[in-house]
Amino acid sequence: MIDWRNGQPFSSFFGDIYFSRDSGLEEKRHVFLQGNHLSERFASLATGAGDAFAIGETGFGTGLSFLCAWQLFDEIAPSRGSLDFFSVEKYPLDERELADALALWPALQQYADDLIARWPRRVPGWNRWSFAGGRVRLTLAIGDVAETLPEIHNGIDAWFLDGFSPARNPEMWTQPVFEHVVRASRPGATFATYTCAGWVRHGLEQAGFQVRKWPGFGHKREMLRGCLPGSPLMQPSSPATAIVIGGGVAGCAVASALAMHGVSVALIEHAPALAAAASGNPRGILHARLSAGMNLLQRFVLASYGHALALLDEKLPIDGIARTECGELQLAFSAEEVQRINKLVALDWPPHILRYVNAAEASALAGIELSHGGLWFPAGGWLVPPRFCAELAAGPGIVCHTGHRVESLMAMDAGWRVEGKDQHGQTWSHEAQIAVICTGYQVKSFAPTANFPLTPVRGQITMVPATSYSENLRTVVCTSGYLAPSTEGLHMMGATHGFNDAAIDLRASDHAANLARLVEISPMLAKAINIDSLDVEGLAGRAAVRASMPGALPLVGELLPGLYTSLGHGTRGLITAGLSGELIAAAACGQLPPLPASVLSALSPARRLMGLICRASRTGT
Ligand code: SAM
Repeated sequence: MIDWRNGQPFSSFFGDIYFSRDSGLEEKRHVFLQGNHLSERFASLATGAGDAFAIGETGFGTGLSFLCAWQLFDEIAPSRGSLDFFSVEKYPLDERELADALALWPALQQYADDLIARWPRRVPGWNRWSFAGGRVRLTLAIGDVAETLPEIHNGIDAWFLDGFSPARNPEMWTQPVFEHVVRASRPGATFATYTCAGWVRHGLEQAGFQVRKWPGFGHKREMLRGCLPGSPLMQPSSPATAIVIGGGVAGCAVASALAMHGVSVALIEHAPALAAAASGNPRGILHARLSAGMNLLQRFVLASYGHALALLDEKLPIDGIARTECGELQLAFSAEEVQRINKLVALDWPPHILRYVNAAEASALAGIELSHGGLWFPAGGWLVPPRFCAELAAGPGIVCHTGHRVESLMAMDAGWRVEGKDQHGQTWSHEAQIAVICTGYQVKSFAPTANFPLTPVRGQITMVPATSYSENLRTVVCTSGYLAPSTEGLHMMGATHGFNDAAIDLRASDHAANLARLVEISPMLAKAINIDSLDVEGLAGRAAVRASMPGALPLVGELLPGLYTSLGHGTRGLITAGLSGELIAAAACGQLPPLPASVLSALSPARRLMGLICRASRTGT
């Protein structure tokens, strides 16, 4: 989208510049930072990470305004508060454009490098990335301003209105946009913009801002700034302590996110080690299964996928041992899959997320002969889930209590108390301001979650001996199951779906079911592996139980005051656990959520519990 004009980033589509090459930085600082009194406001933040200041922006562009705000925050408040930056962008730059535009500002390089490193992980819809050890959070909504602003939570303290000139891009300066800016603001919120167009001023006043003209930057005589009536309310203080029950990927991710927000976490797991149940397979697939339309589940999975890739880059960098990025093929092997894939492809995806490949291209990518084309996810791959859990739980601020079974969970006057027995039969108890249940399908023993319709789904993986032909496989290939490239002479295949089955014995019948899928994946490969000659009784594998919810959306958020859940991730846990942890940490600390309001509401355990109660009272059950 950038056309360079006289060394300046220019949009031919809008006929306007992103910023001026000579004075862009100073102009941003004058208009948006000084226009919103950010130095003074950052200086008044309280010590610690709990006090969060939130900036909203219309038009992320090159991210220059974000980087300027982050730099100022870093200078003024190195040990005070945290910064949330929310922005919307309909036409995101590609990687080259972003890097070229930001290369103009050497003074911002240390900040720009971090943004540029995250950029390949961007997905359509909402993106949430943490910087500076979690003290700076960027929520970037890739989409249209008119659809995005109604989805923002109210909590913005200062606005940067920066959507190209109103005359050239009136869509960014409509009355509904101004009304949503006000709705999403805290009392006393401010705005600043370089324009002083009369109808913009009038529209902002109509929406509720007290608007003033102010000297513009350089040759521009005037700009607008203003504020809402009222003074900022005291923010609810963040909890100092948390109990997280369950040491699988969901619990470890919540613990990690809370610790990044400055909360001290006790992570409690009844098994002798973390990742002992569904997160304990030797390898797990990073598999973004998207449905055909842009529904709530799709938006959640997509946002989670982008977040998971960025989180993994930080916690478990690609090393070929604990994590690969070998790519994933989802084959169009059945009439149903052909239909889903055709509908998905029509949505016009950025190729770094997914693209369609025919059978020849799929075979070339996979390194073995495939009879179907399908979707290619270049950032897919496999990882070692117990390593991921260990890295998440290793952060400062987290104490792991393994071998501790929780037997009861009780509300206290100001917090929650758990009691139980350790592996030696000794009783123990723990209290904290908040508690988070992340125990998969095992929720019946906790009164508040006892009625959740979580279904245990048994899944068995099979380790298949590699042959000289199968060793050519370079990517993960999925049909109704998946096959991973070999490591140490074995391919992992999986997984079965045994609904309402919570047994974890290894079954020859499940090995046979996994092997039968090899023909779906590649008849050539099935022949090379010679599945009929394999002794299914003797194959290695592992069975574990995941928890699934009707409709496949997990239960993530606050259930009762101070009690949260991250449950029901089904087969998608490696993707969805990280963003769910971030959502809970933001909710507990009263900060901007990482997802649109409609998705938050669909995930909400309180709302779904209320739905169950209403249904039961209607049917008299
Ligand atoms: N703040 C940016 C920076 O620091 O580089 C500059 C923003 S630029 C002046 C305006 C941005 O608004 C462009 O990146 C453009 O793609 C985006 N934009 C234009 N119309 C939009 C719309 N309807 N919804 C969302 N973004 C839009």
